[in-house]
Amino acid sequence: MAMRQPIESGVPDNKPFLHPTLAKNYGNWKYHDRPRPGVLHHVSHSGDEVWSVRAGTQRQMDVYTIRKLCDIADTYAEGHVRFTIRSNIEFMVSDPNKVAPLIEALQSNGFPVGGTGNSVSMIAHTQGWLHCDIPGTDASGAVKALMDDLYEEFIREEMPNRVHLSTSCCEINCGGQADIAIIVQHTKPPKINHDLVANVCERPAVVARCPVAAIRPALVNGKPSLEVDEKKCICCGACYPPCPPMQINDPEHSKLAIWVGGKNSNARGKPTFMKMVASGLPNNPPRWPEVSAVVKKILYTYKADARSWERLSDWVERIGWPRFFEKCDLPFTKYLIDDWRGSRANLNASTHIRF
Ligand code: SF4
Ligand code: SF4
Repeated sequence: MAMRQPIESGVPDNKPFLHPTLAKNYGNWKYHDRPRPGVLHHVSHSGDEVWSVRAGTQRQMDVYTIRKLCDIADTYAEGHVRFTIRSNIEFMVSDPNKVAPLIEALQSNGFPVGGTGNSVSMIAHTQGWLHCDIPGTDASGAVKALMDDLYEEFIREEMPNRVHLSTSCCEINCGGQADIAIIVQHTKPPKINHDLVANVCERPAVVARCPVAAIRPALVNGKPSLEVDEKKCICCGACYPPCPPMQINDPEHSKLAIWVGGKNSNARGKPTFMKMVASGLPNNPPRWPEVSAVVKKILYTYKADARSWERLSDWVERIGWPRFFEKCDLPFTKYLIDDWRGSRANLNASTHIRF
């Protein structure tokens, strides 16, 4: 019998799509430098050189914008592009004389060139209302409002170290660690539409979803439904995706929180998790001014106070959290304390507290 072939899934091989100079010198680079913000220059052991010009995009793009970027790639670059994880687009050229006209073409079409080195790169953001079924806010809207204000920091490299920002439109799924993150924060337990639960939800799956075992099966008005022990509920929002009638999004009680100090790299210090430093900010589209104000206050305090090459987490580590709150004019409230009973595992991550 013929062997069954495995079904391949996952990320397709990118090699056929690489710029020929990148494909030829894959894994064989000697060094790279940055001739100016937004431009990376790679030199290979074979002597080949390539310049990558990085521009910011809005991530969720209409077909006309994509065509415009492709036309720029064909006319001013060498027909190849790639996207970074922060939604920046990069155009590769093997001739230094093509760099300046390419930058001019990008800027005149409204794409800022920057995001390299010690800049504020594009904000990594999640899908928001456009694609996902559980967001409590529009991540891309908050990104647009904030990046309008941080444009100068994108095109310059004037931060102490690179700054990665992110937004997440629910509390539990995509997003990841960032120097400063904007994350939805539900503050009330879900409201249950009992008439719909039996039709829509697989109740055991919903009960199993809850991290604090706050959901129980219940019979309401003679129909199978669910109930929530609100004293236990930590308002995480995990029950809403498998059971939309357990509505947790609320125009008043779904807020935004700011977290700081996360990083994935282990350069200079170990990778770190973010910590919440501002809670209960209004979810206020279309410009989210309260959120932008707090992010900018933290960002510019870091810029003024950190030493060269300190990431935001290194800076906080050096000055200490009490000074961080003082310098950033942020109130330290009880809402920032991790009082979930499962938090003993977090506290045990330190050598100072053992129980
Ligand atoms: S962060 Fe949550 S709501 Fe936003 S796209 Fe990801 S899963 Fe959906
Ligand atoms: S919001 Fe989270 S903690 Fe509350 S009932 Fe739903 S899953 Fe449980």
